[in-house]
Amino acid sequence: CKTIVEGTTKVSVPVPPPDATFPPSAAPVFYNPEMELNRDINVATTAAFVERLLSRKEISREEIRYVDAFSASGIRGLRIAGEVGIHATMNDWSPDAFEMIKENIKINGLEEKTMATRKNANVLLHEQKFHIVDIDPFGTPSPFLDAASASAQSMLSVTATDTAPLCGAHLNSGIRKYAAIPLNTEYHSEMGLRVLLGACARELAKHEKGMLPLLSHVTRHYVRTYLEVLPGTKQADITLKSMGFSIHCPKCGFRGPVYGVAVHIERECPICGSFTRIAGPLWLGPLRESEFCNEVISELEVHPLNTTEKAKKLITFCRDELDMPMFYDQHVICKEIGTSATGMETLIEALKAYGFEASRTHFSGTSFKTDAPLREIKKIIMALSR
Ligand code: SAM
Repeated sequence: CKTIVEGTTKVSVPVPPPDATFPPSAAPVFYNPEMELNRDINVATTAAFVERLLSRKEISREEIRYVDAFSASGIRGLRIAGEVGIHATMNDWSPDAFEMIKENIKINGLEEKTMATRKNANVLLHEQKFHIVDIDPFGTPSPFLDAASASAQSMLSVTATDTAPLCGAHLNSGIRKYAAIPLNTEYHSEMGLRVLLGACARELAKHEKGMLPLLSHVTRHYVRTYLEVLPGTKQADITLKSMGFSIHCPKCGFRGPVYGVAVHIERECPICGSFTRIAGPLWLGPLRESEFCNEVISELEVHPLNTTEKAKKLITFCRDELDMPMFYDQHVICKEIGTSATGMETLIEALKAYGFEASRTHFSGTSFKTDAPLREIKKIIMALSR
């Protein structure tokens, strides 16, 4: 074992064999240093959410219960207990992980603020309610969303590392896991996020809860979302109004949302008349709340973290991104119309100068969102390349 430090938390983790293809999985207890940014954002986001809960004056800090249902070394939950200052339960069904969690609780002197359990996450989450439920399993969260939705009272935080099924690269697997059809287009990362959010909305609705996405972000390796849980059938019904489908024209690149759970969809592309493809059901609502992103940025500034600047940049992108599905990729459009790309800021300014709304996105360096029709976007890109 070796001791590592993230934030202000010290954790003992096993040293993986040097020749392993994916070292975190080869060790007896999982620890992936590459997820430090994800955990740093988790600290800031959970801290911001706790402040919101406290400001409502319905609960005290001591009463708030957080669960890290797939804890491995315990690092995620320990950081919440030590750096956010709320009670954290850390659970893992592996005996090795359970022993390591208990050791790490002692190392950090967090016996009073934590609890270690060794259960199947689904059993624990069906047995107990927590204000904040955090699920960070291997691969897909889909088998755990029902129990997590039953347990979560105030916030549900979900990581999914099965980006290939979510984004349409492994189509059948995605359909099996999420009961949704994704399309593997240039905006597949946003597609994956909306498939996951759609699955969360439907699971929460079963438990008569609605949701409000507070923050969501996607990298090549994972999707992460923080959902405020809104109890009641009314909230569940409102939430389901943001469900729908997305049509995509493979010929001209047109894409558009269609709201509703049972909808009539024209097969022909409204621009070029070709047959369109359909993705869904998907979440078509907002991916984040901009004021909440500001609160997360403020928390990032006060917590000692190794990834502060990177995290702030990411959250700022999320905050400033236009709230509409789906993003465009400048390189894909340039390739189609046979022209060269221009700087992203120049493109955004040009779209705005023509009277459209436009923003970059956190999904990739060449992505942007705009309310400009595709024909106008192509004209503007063409004009800029001249
Ligand atoms: N959250 C950890 C972190 O940030 O370092 C990583 C968790 S790791 C991806 C997934 C963990 O879930 C493993 O330690 C595994 O033993 C545990 N696990 C897998 N299936 C489980 C289940 N059904 N119930 C409880 N634990 C489970």
